[in-house]
This record gives sequence, structure tokens and C-alpha cells, in this order.
Amino acid sequence: MRRPTPRSTGLAVAAVGSIIGSLVVASASPALAHGDAGGRHDQTLTPRTHFVMAADGSSGARADGAGIPNIDSVKKTIYSYYGDPGTGLANRTSSPYISEMGRITGGLRAQLKRTYAAAERAGTKPAIVLDADDTTLWTYDMEVADMKFVFDPVRQDYWVQHQLFPATPTMVDLVNEADAMGFTIFGLTGRGAAQKDATIGNLKDVGYNAFTPDHYFTKWAGSTPPAYITCATAKCTTVEYKAGTRKHIEQDLGYDIVLNIGDQWSDLQGGHADRNVKLPNPTYYLPSPDLPGVSEPRLAPRTHFTMKPDGSSGLTESGEGIPNIDSVKKTIATYYGDLGTGIADKTSSPYVTELAALERRTTQRLVNECRQGARSGSKPAVVFDADDTTLWTYDMEVADMKFVFNPVRQDYWVQNKLFPATPGMPSVVKAVADSGCTVIGLTGRNTGQKAATLANLHEQGYPQFSDDLYFTKWRSSETPPAYMQGHCKAYPTCTTIEYKSTTRAHIEQDLGYDVVANLGDQYSDLIGGHADRAVKLPNPTYYLP
Ligand SMILES: [Mg+2]
Repeated sequence: MRRPTPRSTGLAVAAVGSIIGSLVVASASPALAHGDAGGRHDQTLTPRTHFVMAADGSSGARADGAGIPNIDSVKKTIYSYYGDPGTGLANRTSSPYISEMGRITGGLRAQLKRTYAAAERAGTKPAIVLDADDTTLWTYDMEVADMKFVFDPVRQDYWVQHQLFPATPTMVDLVNEADAMGFTIFGLTGRGAAQKDATIGNLKDVGYNAFTPDHYFTKWAGSTPPAYITCATAKCTTVEYKAGTRKHIEQDLGYDIVLNIGDQWSDLQGGHADRNVKLPNPTYYLPSPDLPGVSEPRLAPRTHFTMKPDGSSGLTESGEGIPNIDSVKKTIATYYGDLGTGIADKTSSPYVTELAALERRTTQRLVNECRQGARSGSKPAVVFDADDTTLWTYDMEVADMKFVFNPVRQDYWVQNKLFPATPGMPSVVKAVADSGCTVIGLTGRNTGQKAATLANLHEQGYPQFSDDLYFTKWRSSETPPAYMQGHCKAYPTCTTIEYKSTTRAHIEQDLGYDVVANLGDQYSDLIGGHADRAVKLPNPTYYLP
């Protein structure tokens, strides 16, 4: 099985090496380090932690897979932020998210009196407009425990009609206090008219006193908007609907909207509020064009992020500082030339371009080293991982699993040999084999997947992999190979790094090969030495610590 994915982390081991462009070239031992044209040395084998990402997915057009926030790390960061122990359920009493919400609503509550007094002096009718999902009602448990970040409108309607949402932390006190003070409270949501009664019922259930049907706006059923809504095209945008409704509240109903609160930028764009407050929500992104001709650059998502791979940044970053998972998915899709079907473009994409450049550099170097080793009789070998190094899992991960790893589906893909080759990799394997290197496979796939993996590889243009030099992991019912003894903290479980580095040690020390290079898409494929050179292939679609 490829992905045991415990929530533990701790990549303590780092190797000294060097980097050429996106190609990490590391050495097990400084004495064996190869020089490189880039001249940047001492690069550690750890993921990047700083990212620049536009919300709309366009950053995936760069041929820089390591520059895309890894989606598994993004999920873990979100879990930490919401105090989710891994169940998909948010901590209801204490978390960085609740603390941040408390700071936001605390600041707003401190200003209510002054705002109300100013309205009284001006003789206006002050109103507050609130969105529903993740503004007054909290969808985390639905989004994560139920949907696993894959939105499902049927499940959503179930949660809505059964009124299952808890209140967004700290919001009930803010809204009730404002209501008691005399503000008129309006609801304005993208939920449909058929969900209006249940939404108001849910709000009342969780403690909101103020919401009433006459002051609650849901999206109209059918294709005809209310007369007060103006849309540039037949299909109204979220901003046209929401800003148009706020305009109606102000101009037709005679209120002054002093405060508009939402968790999406599209809740806030388009004006008709004295003040906009954005609540944090990295769990989904609902973009909308602003009103025609309107530009509000401040009402836009952040583009620079700091994120550690292990999720710990969720304890320190604000919600806006966590890469939004929907933007990450779109960025990954752009990178793989996936137009929205979950299927990668097999011939042309930023990923294909990046791989081609990396493979060109790698092949040039390895061919020389393989020839040299063969001449000197050192039994040179190159070690290749399977998934996303020689075989390409994108279509399984995205079209089939939607980024939610499923070992049963994975085994189906493995046993039926459904994986295409990683673009360009058959040529790399052929080049090193033709120049005197022995080709060795080393994968976290298990014993029961070995025959099918080899068959898949042979069908995809890799005749060089052989049964005796293809290493798969033992299943829990099996005994690890003798050479693993004494090399695992929790024998016979063994971490990926323990399994892979010890197997490379076996290849070198027991089988007598010189591993001139080790190619993998995960840092855990590469950490732990026993290879003259480590080559990291890009893969933002999952992270195996
Ligand atoms: Mg919302």
C-alpha cells in the first residue's frame, strides 16, 4: 500500500547536496557530492515552505511543481487551524480558528454602541448584513468529515434541510447583541429559496434571535431574478446578486448597511456597505467577477503563503494565510493541463515541460556516470520509485479519488495495470540502462502488487525492470527481509524512509551495486542516503512523510 499516511511527522534527516533549477541533486555523503552548474550547495531534502499562488489557479502555469502548495500539507494545515484531530470534525471549543473568530467579533462588538449612536444622530436605520455558510452557520464538519473537501450539493441539501449546522464560533453573541441594541439584522445567502425555511430554522436552533423571513434573502428559484437585481448576462453572478440585494436594502427598504460580514470575498465585493468584514475560511473558495467596471483590489485573497509540510503552520498562521484548498486544486489542475475532468494532459502541460527539462539534465549526467562506472567495474545502478516516478497516478488521484486517497481503488488501478508512464521517464530508464547502469525498482507498493506493477511497467515501455531487482514492501502479515532487522524504530512496521534507505544500503552493501542515482517524487524516497545523487520529481498531488 502506498499511503499509510499517519498524522505523525518528523523529517529529521536531511542530506547535504546541491540543486540545479528544480532538480534537487543531493548526496548521501559530502565526500561523494557532485559539483553542479548552479553552484548552490547544502540544499536539504525538505519541501519548500514559501509559496506564491493566485486564487484562480493561474500560478499552475509555471513549470514549478515544488512551488505549488502540496495538497496533503494544505489539508493538514487546515486540520490544525480548526483543531480537527483527523476525524474531519472541528474542535467546538478551542482552536486557532475559534481564537481568530473571537478576536474579529470582539473588535466588532466593541464598536457596536458607537456605530448605533452615530446612526441615531444621523437619523438613519442601521442594518447589518450577514452571509449564512461560515458566517453565521459553520460548515466545517460537513465539508471535511462528510465531503472530504469534495463539494456535493445533494449532501449539502441534506445538511441544510436537517438543520445540522452549528453556529459559527462567537457569531451568535455578536448578532444577538447587535439585534438587542436596535440594529436590523439581514441574512443574505447563496443558498436557494427552497432552503430558506430550513436555514432560518437552523439559525434559530443554534441561538440567533434576529433572523426573520422578511429580512432573509436566498437566491431565487428559476431563471428570473427579482426586479431590483441587474445582471450583465442572463446568468447572474454572486456579486450581482449580493451587491444588488444590498442596494435594494439601502435604496428601496431605506436602511443604511453599516456592516456586511461574509467568509467569501464575493460576499463583500460590489459596495453598498459602510464596512466589510472578511471572516477566515480556507476550506473552499467561491469566486465571482466584481460588478462590471468595478475594481476592488483590497477585497481579494492573499497570494503569498508560508506553510510547513507537516500542518503545523495551521497553529500560527491566520486563516487568510492558509492556502485555500479550492485554489490549490485549481493550481494543480493548471499545472497538469487538467481542464476540469481530473484527467491530465498527456502531451503538453507545465508538468510535462518541467519533467522534460529535468529529465534532459538528469540523463546527460547519469549517462556519463553509468558509462564511467561500467568501465571501472563498479556495478553502477539507478534506483527508481514507482508512483509518480515511473508510473503516473494523476488520473487516479484526481479523476477517480478527487484527492481523497482510497486504498481499495488504488489496488484496483494497480492490479488492472491502468497507470500510464510518467511523461518522458521510459527514455531516462532506457538511457541509463543502455549506458551500463542496472535498473532497480523500489516502491512502497506491497508484495501483492509486485507482479501487476512489473507488468504495468513492461506495458508502458520499461522492459528493464526485473523481478529480482524490484523491491516492494512486505504486508503486515509478512516478515520483513532479514536486512531490515535492526534498522527500524518500530520493527516490523518501519517508516518509508527506514524501508527505502535500508533497501538501498542492502543494494549497495549486500548486492554490491553502486547506486549512482535515486529518483523519486517524495522526499521520503530520497532521504537517508545510499545513493550518490538524489533526484526529486515534482508532485504537489500528495505528500508521504
Ligand atoms: Mg459563506
